[in-house]
Amino acid sequence: MASTAPGATHPSPTETAEQVRSATVEAPADNRTRNPTIDMSNKRPDRACVCRASPGRLRHFVRRMGVWRGVLLFTAASTLIAFAITGVAMEVAGLEHRPLGYMIAFTCSVTIMPAIVAGLLSLIRRLDETEDELYRLARTDELTDLPNRRALMEAAAEPVAHAQPVALLFIDIDHFKRVNDTYGHQTGDEILRQVTQALASQLQDTDTLCRYGGEEFAALIRGSDAADPRTLAEQIRRHVERTPVDAGAATALHVTVSIGVSHAPDARDAGIYQLIDQADRALYLAKREGRNRIRAA
Ligand code: GH3
Ligand code: MG
Ligand code: MG
Repeated sequence: MASTAPGATHPSPTETAEQVRSATVEAPADNRTRNPTIDMSNKRPDRACVCRASPGRLRHFVRRMGVWRGVLLFTAASTLIAFAITGVAMEVAGLEHRPLGYMIAFTCSVTIMPAIVAGLLSLIRRLDETEDELYRLARTDELTDLPNRRALMEAAAEPVAHAQPVALLFIDIDHFKRVNDTYGHQTGDEILRQVTQALASQLQDTDTLCRYGGEEFAALIRGSDAADPRTLAEQIRRHVERTPVDAGAATALHVTVSIGVSHAPDARDAGIYQLIDQADRALYLAKREGRNRIRAA
């Protein structure tokens, strides 16, 4: 990372530079075991929040059948109905059942129905895709592609409903304002993305990592790790500390995080808000005691 910021308006305080910069260093091998292949390049995190809104019946039908199979099905059904109506009408009118009547019913059905049904089903499919996209956008952080706070709250509903053990890690990048002040906000953004990768590499698929806001992340931990979240938090802290963030210049930066940990053997008893509050207080302690450390509630 060059010490010249992309934007000469940012000051470069010596203290700040020393705090955040280190000479180009190789990251020492660490003991992470979960995703050792993770690459700290500019990638989107693996655990991006791609969600789908739950569909209504018609949308569900279009998803399963597709537009053209739907058109065939509706046209065949409407042709049968047209035949039935024609037959009944002829019967009621006391007319002889002639093929011409059925041919007219068939022709009307196959010329009118496909266009109407295709238009309708295409519209439903477009609405469905748009709703999915809105759903995803409402739950995704634009910069990091992580789930956002809303998605975290929704993810928390599951362990609460099943009374599962759960842990929450509140992760805050240390002195991030100085990084911005020294290197500029664009570099700051890039560092946020790379720290996201580093955090995600230490978590499992059952965990939910979200960008809680600014330079703060929250990880909702379920399963076996929830019983011992301090060990996981310490592993994450060490991994971030050791992993150089590369913002595209010659010097590698090292950032550190402070982590507040809370956990509950039964998520239903604690509730997500209580867990957040406890983790937040623990994070405050970690900051007060010097940063780059974990504290548990
Ligand atoms: P502490 O160790 O106490 O957490 O100090 P800090 O500087 O990290 O915390 P502070 O709350 O003082 O500043 C947070 C900074 O995070 C300030 C803000 O500019 C920066 N920040 C928040 N969101 C973004 C973002 O999306 N991009 C960039 N580049 N910076 C961000
Ligand atoms: Mg911070
Ligand atoms: Mg903060």
